[in-house]
Amino acid sequence: MGASNISPGMREFQECVSDIEAFDINSSGMHFTWIHLHKLKGRSVWDIKARGSISWGWRKILSIRNAVRPFIWKIARSGSQINAWSDNWCQFSPLNSFITPRSIANAGFNINTNLADLIDENGQWKWPSAWYDIYPVLIGLHAPPLTQNLVDRTIWKDLEGNTRPFGSMEVWHNTRHREQPVSWVNGVWFSQCIPRHSFHLWLVIKNKLKTQDRLASWEAGSDYNLRLMCCPLCKHDRDSRDHLFFSCSFASQVWYNVKDLLNMGEVNDSWQSIMNWMDQKANSKKTEHIVCKLVIAAASYFIWHERNNCLFSNKVANVNAVCDKIKNTVRLRLMGFNFKGGSHNQSIQEKWKLLPSDEDKDPG
Ligand SMILES: [Zn+2]
Repeated sequence: MGASNISPGMREFQECVSDIEAFDINSSGMHFTWIHLHKLKGRSVWDIKARGSISWGWRKILSIRNAVRPFIWKIARSGSQINAWSDNWCQFSPLNSFITPRSIANAGFNINTNLADLIDENGQWKWPSAWYDIYPVLIGLHAPPLTQNLVDRTIWKDLEGNTRPFGSMEVWHNTRHREQPVSWVNGVWFSQCIPRHSFHLWLVIKNKLKTQDRLASWEAGSDYNLRLMCCPLCKHDRDSRDHLFFSCSFASQVWYNVKDLLNMGEVNDSWQSIMNWMDQKANSKKTEHIVCKLVIAAASYFIWHERNNCLFSNKVANVNAVCDKIKNTVRLRLMGFNFKGGSHNQSIQEKWKLLPSDEDKDPG
């Protein structure tokens, strides 16, 4: 497909394809052909400048180069599809990170020189021996064996340098922004957690629930209803994350009721107090702490549930009903636990009524 015989309709179609398709790492398909023939024109994708009137899609593709470059590698087979200077094909790649354009030009090469052009028929480097003095790192670099007419391969390497099958999950995992794990991560996500409770608790910790204090920032238009808002559970003031979990008089009763079944010491009904506990115990694998984590997540989940029921269905909040829901759900989870011996675990099982009672025992 040459540039000169493309009809306007075809050109439009190709523009669409180039706008919507992702970078084709397998080096196959029409998109790849189109990009190579008409966008790159023989140049390396790593070298061209994102200037002028280029399409939105192509500009986007070019803008992610720095993010994906460390992961895209070439396996040399014929060497003719590998840019010697800008592609990743050896442990010192890209070579143009230390070999200057002037050196390249003075040695009789150019920026489009491919790997095959650098190796003579005896399998030796063609670059001047003076380069070994200027760039001693090249001394340890052996020319890869090449076979004519084979297609070079493009592969994806992960953060550890292992070759991985290319896929969106792999790309996301390798390129996503990472920060230090937060201190409470294992207090929210742990193998015995109840996923929907954990997801909710995560929203609570990040203060992302649509509580009334956060809706108040939309109040600029003097919306009458917003000014009338009060916590649906205790009818006092607007609700907020710190109010609902668990200093609200309703939530506080629920919290202290279920906390009776836990060994949480001095923790009170303030959110700060609970997060302080998380800081210390989030990583604990002790059964007593896992039960606490399950209860914190379940309590915040069911109190939020009750709050929404009262707000949207005009229900009257009921402390005992919420406590029962929390206890029953956590108890159901604990029934799947494999409690080891020890008086401590025995007392957890007693508190949560996990031991068979006398009536349940088979009389024989
Ligand atoms: Zn309240």
